[in-house]
Order: sequence, then structure tokens, then C-alpha cells
Amino acid sequence: MSTTIVVVGGGVSGLTSAYLLSKSNGNTVTLVAKHMPGDYDIEYASPVAGANVMPMSSDANSRWERRTWPEFEWLCRNVPEAGFHFKNTLVYRKHKDLDQATASMPMDPLFDRDPWYRHLMPDYRELTADELPPGQDSGCSFTSVCMNTPVYLSWLVGQCLRNGVVFRRAVLSELTEAARLSHAGRPADIVVNATGLGALKLGGVRDAAMAPARGQIVLVRNDGPAMVATSGVDDGSGEVLYAMQRAAGGGTILGGTYDIGNWESQPCPNIAARVMDRIVRLDPALAGGRGVAGLDVIRHAVGLRPYRAGGVRIERETLRDAAGGGSVEVVHNYGHAGWGYQGSFGCAERVVELVNEIRAARGEDLSNEPR
Ligand code: FAD
Repeated sequence: MSTTIVVVGGGVSGLTSAYLLSKSNGNTVTLVAKHMPGDYDIEYASPVAGANVMPMSSDANSRWERRTWPEFEWLCRNVPEAGFHFKNTLVYRKHKDLDQATASMPMDPLFDRDPWYRHLMPDYRELTADELPPGQDSGCSFTSVCMNTPVYLSWLVGQCLRNGVVFRRAVLSELTEAARLSHAGRPADIVVNATGLGALKLGGVRDAAMAPARGQIVLVRNDGPAMVATSGVDDGSGEVLYAMQRAAGGGTILGGTYDIGNWESQPCPNIAARVMDRIVRLDPALAGGRGVAGLDVIRHAVGLRPYRAGGVRIERETLRDAAGGGSVEVVHNYGHAGWGYQGSFGCAERVVELVNEIRAARGEDLSNEPR
């Protein structure tokens, strides 16, 4: 008999988990979520993301990004309908941002001067002084990818459907309710929790380490040759500067903010004005040298990144079924903050490992599992 699994969450974390789990004939997978690809909602981070790969973990926590990059590179080369393209990427550093005494916010390892990812990302090199825009002290360039997130999320849905995953809409009050939502007609053996920021309030989880990291962006039609990110801006804590061109005509995302604890769902016009002003000063060519007036805005948007103090949670837990009898085996996969795409395959691989531990303990023969 197959193992019945219900994945809760229709964002990139839930979809990638369901996709990898559905590669095994031994699993019968149902995906349950309040929001699905095609929806836009402040409780649903994935459609708002750029999304690109700019490694931001420390070397010690780099497993998720190291394992995801080869999958994305492969998809980009071989699967055009997944909605990826390669882009040159420029990371600029102001040295005052890298010094804890003068930095306006804690720095991602993305801006390290000798980063671990120099051995992962193709064509990595340090920029020369004459390649730096005014005000930037140093920087690096490498080849990365940027995807068109609506296209990629739909592609993931398609892969899951092809492998027999059944999709269901549901709003859960308790995580263990998911066990009764398997389409297999019997209670699920395992529930995967990929509820993102929802893990803050979902019964059975209520993880107080979760908080929104608010990201406000401007989506424009302008197209530039390279993605950019800078180590900081001079407009106060919580504001950042980046641009990424989505594949397949998806427009260019201009960012933005990374504001932990801010739940505001509506774009702030003052922030939007600063975002646009900063990018045209850094990269005047993006707007044809016409300043902010040269930006062709598609829309303003806000997404709440599922930030978790202490980092992502990927682990097993046995929960008592809130509706009474028995217990439910759970595998958590939430709290990816601003790197949910670029770590998605690595995290979902770990979900599969943990699910297989449970299956092995149930006495299943896993010798023919896909690798
Ligand atoms: P979500 O996409 O939020 O999905 C959560 C799912 O759980 C939803 O389907 C929801 O309906 C469901 N759910 C929650 N609670 C319940 C419940 N009680 N009952 C039923 N269903 C429930 N990442 C990158 O890797 N690269 C980038 O360039 C990048 N850029 C970003 C830019 C912005 C502006 C933002 C906001 C984010 C960016 N991110 C980026 C981060 C990325 O978007 C997130 O890390 C990722 O989308 C998180 O995915 P998730 O599936 O965990 O959560």
C-alpha cells in the first residue's frame, strides 16, 4: 500500500515538496492550500517574488542554496517552459555597510568580499574600479538566473498534476486537519507543513519565531542588461536596492524593502518614489536616461516574506490529532524569508529524506526510490 501524504501550502515550498514527493510511485500526494498559483494575496508570498538567485546564506547554512542552483541551471538550459533565463548579475558593496559599527542593517553574506558562492556561481569575478557606479566601493559579477514566478509556479503545478498530485482548496485551523483531506479516501500517513507565514497562527504550530519581512516592489516594463543589488541605501533601515528582470516578458522587479515585523499590505507611495529614484540614479540606462519619468510602471506590489528568527524549520514532529484519536506524523518546511525559491529544491530534498525516514520506520522497502 502506498504512503498517503498531504502537503499543506501552494507556494514554491509546498509545490516543490509535492513535486519531488510525487516522483516516487510509493507516495500518493494531495496538495491542500488556501491560496494557489493564479491568486494574488498578502498571505501568499510566492507570486510577488522576483525571483532570482543571489545566494544569501552563510557558508555553514548553504546546503539549501548549493543543492538548488544545479537544478535551476538545468531547468534554465533544458526546460524553456519553466520560465527561466540566465542573467549577468552585479553585486555592489559600500564598505561602510559591511562594518557592523556603521551598517544600517545586518548584512547578508551575499555582500561578503570573499563569498563561499564564488565557487558555485558561474563566471564569478571581482569588478574593477572603473566598472563601479559612483558611490560604490567594490563589487562582483556572476551569471545567475531569474525566473518569471507566475510561469514557474504554473509549471510546478503541471509537473505535480502529471505525477498524479491532486489539488484541493482548504483553509485549515489546525495542521492535523490536513490528515483527513487526502484524496486517497483514508487518513494521510504524513502531513507536510509548507504554510510559510501561516505557521505563525496555524493551530498545532503557532510558531512565535515567525514574522513578516515586508517587501514592497515596483514592476516595470523597462528592461536592462544585468540584475543588480547594493549592500545598502542611505534612506533608512528596512530599505534595500535591487533590480531583476523576469524571464519571458515578465517585466523588471525594482526593490524595495526588507522590513521585519511590518504587516502593511498596501504599497506606500513615498517608498515607491524612493525605490524608483534610487534605481535610476544607480542605473540611468534602465530608464533611457530620463530619470523616474522614463520608468514604465506595470504595478506596485507588496509581499510578506515568511521570516523566521533562527532560520528555516525543516524537521519531523509527531502531533496529537486535535480532533481526537491518534497522532499525525508531520514534516515541517517553512520560514524561508527572502530565499524560498533559491533554496526550494534543497529544502524539498530534505523533506523527501525525512518522509523516507518515516516510511522506512513503517517497514516500507525504499530500495527502488528515485534519486
Ligand atoms: P507562500 O508562498 O507564502 O505560501 C504559503 C502557502 O500556505 C499558501 O498557499 C497559503 O495559502 C498556504 N497556507 C498558509 N496558511 C494556511 C492555512 N491555515 N490553511 C491552508 N493553507 C494555508 N526568494 C528567492 O528565492 N529569490 C528572490 O529573488 C526573492 N525575491 C522576493 C521578493 C519579494 C518582494 C518577496 C516578498 C519575496 C521574495 N522572495 C525571493 C522570497 C520568496 O518569495 C519566499 O521565500 C517564498 O515565496 C516562500 O514560499 P512558501 O511556499 O514558503 O510561502
